[in-house]
Amino acid sequence: MSDGIHTVRGRIFDIQKFSVHDGPGIRTIVFLKGCVLRCRWCCNPESQNWEIEGMIQNGVKKTVGRDITVGEVMTKVLQDKPYYRRSGGGLTLSGGETLCQPEFARALLLACRASGINTAIETTLCADYSVIESIAALVDTFLVDIKHMDSEKHRQFTTQPNDRILENAKRLASSGANMVVRVPVIPTFNDTPAELHAIAAFAHDTLKAKEMHILPYHRLGYDKYIGLGREYLMGDLPSPTKEAMTFFKDICMSAGITCHIGG
Ligand code: SF4
Repeated sequence: MSDGIHTVRGRIFDIQKFSVHDGPGIRTIVFLKGCVLRCRWCCNPESQNWEIEGMIQNGVKKTVGRDITVGEVMTKVLQDKPYYRRSGGGLTLSGGETLCQPEFARALLLACRASGINTAIETTLCADYSVIESIAALVDTFLVDIKHMDSEKHRQFTTQPNDRILENAKRLASSGANMVVRVPVIPTFNDTPAELHAIAAFAHDTLKAKEMHILPYHRLGYDKYIGLGREYLMGDLPSPTKEAMTFFKDICMSAGITCHIGG
């Protein structure tokens, strides 16, 4: 790894080891700070702002966010290389939105390439396509969030329209990228057979995605909103039941795509 890559700095809010939900095999997940969306249901609200901030957790104020070099991240990532090799795992960049820190993301991905480590990114693709293009060849799996096919509804619940996201997804797919489409199933937003079928058809017919994951809404982020002094906009809406998720999975499969519940 060249010193140039090693010393690139970025801002993260967590590193989690031994994840089996965000890409193939056993993985280390690096959570980058900053996101352009503000999804009402986001379970990591501390990821959204670029600024390092305070959050009260279990009555204790903690600092969320820290600046770190690629070399420091890679020291942690490389500790689990034997597990990646045996399981087909590696590094996943998540957030927040990975594409908000393209230089840092690119340097991390290059460092992984140099060390023979499999790479994945979790992304909304809400960025200039040139940013996506600058890292695409370094990413083994794109975990792409597609939340809704209707742009206005998307904007109401995330603050951003979906036009650029869908256009970028199409361009990325046509470049031959390996894509898994991930859909959070959110009550009052996209939890209808018609909407989930429409996303599944787009993933299968247009993106030629390998598979689709549907992720049930949960309220586990609620305490974080309180800890950040922010309002929780989803109220007390319940999570979809297991039966509802199985029904939605069957709806998605009827569009021709392999679908799993969970990551
Ligand atoms: S895109 Fe992800 S990280 Fe960003 S606000 Fe939405 S759920 Fe949260």
